[in-house]
Amino acid sequence: MEMKIRAAVVRAKTDPFVMEEIDLEEPRDDEVLVRIAGTGLCHTDLAVRDGHTGSPFPIVLGHEGSGIVERVGARVRKVKPGDHVVLSYVACRACAPCKRGEQSICLESFPGNFGGARFDGSLTMKKNGQPVHGSFFGQSSFATYALAYEQNAVPVPDDVPIEILGPLGCGVQTGAGGVINTLRPRPGSSLVVFGTGGVGMSAILAGRVCGCTTIIAVDVKRARLETALALGATHAINPSETDLIDAIKEITRGGVEYAIDTTGNGKIIRQAVDALAVGGKCGLIASSEEEIHIGAGELLPGRSLVGIIEGSAIPDIFIPQMIELYKQGRFPFDRMITFYDLDRINEAVADSESGKTLKPVLKP
Ligand SMILES: [Zn+2]
Ligand SMILES: [Zn+2]
Repeated sequence: MEMKIRAAVVRAKTDPFVMEEIDLEEPRDDEVLVRIAGTGLCHTDLAVRDGHTGSPFPIVLGHEGSGIVERVGARVRKVKPGDHVVLSYVACRACAPCKRGEQSICLESFPGNFGGARFDGSLTMKKNGQPVHGSFFGQSSFATYALAYEQNAVPVPDDVPIEILGPLGCGVQTGAGGVINTLRPRPGSSLVVFGTGGVGMSAILAGRVCGCTTIIAVDVKRARLETALALGATHAINPSETDLIDAIKEITRGGVEYAIDTTGNGKIIRQAVDALAVGGKCGLIASSEEEIHIGAGELLPGRSLVGIIEGSAIPDIFIPQMIELYKQGRFPFDRMITFYDLDRINEAVADSESGKTLKPVLKP
């Protein structure tokens, strides 16, 4: 059994997205069919489009979906038709990190989220009988409907507009979780965030939630820094205009207690370490091949660097927490969003790449 959906397909590496009619399978026992209300565009979608992850083509991307459950498989208990859900990442649930509750560092994370197929290797989509890869982050939600697993469909309250919630499934979770779950800054402490895209802005919002009293935004784009200040940063530094390390040390009177790097740029990370106070902690959120040279003696006085995936979040726990903070007015992540029709996905991509928009959300 199959149903017709409309989806944004990438036919080959670096090709634009093309809207096509695709056949999507009905949900298997552990799957959930979701009518998509909105899907955030994240840099990872573009990295996959450009071939950086080796994912197969043609493929339907989209991994920050939100929507309403249409149908569920026979063994699904967590959600039922009509429920509002946010779709997040998948984990194998069987490896050692998964078993101890650290599913963000699942050993099968890469094939599970980027492999273009279900965990068992089967495909969820076809076009005219020809295979189309999907199951991207267990969803492929640049589409009118998406097939998710029960595990990554997170039930959310229905008194919040469903179309704004998709980015909580990846980008916002990544930035906010990096601060709230991993760095855990003390109230009254200082935090610097390198790079103020959607992930960095989410880290800034989270710094406020945690009670950081000094929150420094770093970016070379002046308009982004203005937005960061409006969202709760207390200071903004443009490293193209001033000496970054000196400026951070001056603001923090000697060194910053917590840092988040969203750039993956080796030179920036090196400067982040230089700006850390003794006992300071720096979280690395962006994947990159860059090497960082750090003397062991620099880290000895309690400094640490830690890699963070998906904000170390368990989506079933963390997404409802972020929504509650949003409802209380303490986490206004929706101010980052610009809506586009899914048909205009290539325009959303261009606006995201140029920095014109912070977090495009595509509505089918
Ligand atoms: Zn696992
Ligand atoms: Zn993402």
